[in-house]
Amino acid sequence: MHRLALGDLELSVFSDGTYPLDGGAFFGVIPKVMWSKKVAADERNYVAAGLNSLLIRTGKHTVLVETGMGNKLSDRMKKFYGQPAKLLENLSAAGIAPEDIDIVINSHLHFDHCGWNTVRDKNGKIVPTFPRAKYYAPEGEWQYARKPSERDAISYISANYDPLVESGRMTLLKGGEEIVPGISVKTFRGHTACMQGIIVQGSGENPHFSQRQGEVGHPSDSSFPPTACYISDLMPTTAHIDVTWGMGFDLYPLDTIESKKEYYARALPEKWLTVFTHDPRVPWAYIEQDESGKMVAKEAV
Ligand SMILES: [Zn+2]
Repeated sequence: MHRLALGDLELSVFSDGTYPLDGGAFFGVIPKVMWSKKVAADERNYVAAGLNSLLIRTGKHTVLVETGMGNKLSDRMKKFYGQPAKLLENLSAAGIAPEDIDIVINSHLHFDHCGWNTVRDKNGKIVPTFPRAKYYAPEGEWQYARKPSERDAISYISANYDPLVESGRMTLLKGGEEIVPGISVKTFRGHTACMQGIIVQGSGENPHFSQRQGEVGHPSDSSFPPTACYISDLMPTTAHIDVTWGMGFDLYPLDTIESKKEYYARALPEKWLTVFTHDPRVPWAYIEQDESGKMVAKEAV
């Protein structure tokens, strides 16, 4: 169980399980001799990818960022990806029922990020999985999902979002909005044109600063509030934190590099906690740059 306090907010990670992804597609142009030092591939060249959702308790609201792969995959897609469908049972094991979720936020609308938005009821009708929740997703993603390119059309499953938009349950975001105090979204172009990171800011002292006060090379200024970012597929795992290690799936790989630089320009000096959507082992970490300029993920404890 991964849980920590971010100022006055409580953050925890819940998994929908793991699924196989082709290692080549996961690491794009990075040669296997390099990525295989970080991640093990099986005999078919598949690596295990996680499906991490972030739960935020603000005291007023219970917010779920991302809803995994869900349980509505076609038989053809199940052949490729399986369908672990563990999110609801993992939430339930922590005492969280679907009715407890007030807000659901999707970073983008690929099937492995919004799958549990909806379920089929006993009559086969698509209904919201979280019956009380207000849903949020990027508007540009939804527009694109209605007419995706041939390349990633398979990644969009209308039942995950269209019924929510039609019924007025899903609010579409331009990027930059604050959804509740302390939780806002920002567009990071690269993986798709309109994917949004979810930025979570607690109030109170940033514990990561005080922990490191006095260390050479670390600013003792702790004026930045404790902040976490669900950076989604811009940096899906700790193995993707180098600016040039993008995924083969990215539609705009050069923009992925620019967006990572833009992210680091704030996340490094302000010591943000980065949440990794697809890392099966390390769901969050503090990213630092070592003396040689290399990005290093320091696990949060
Ligand atoms: Zn994606």
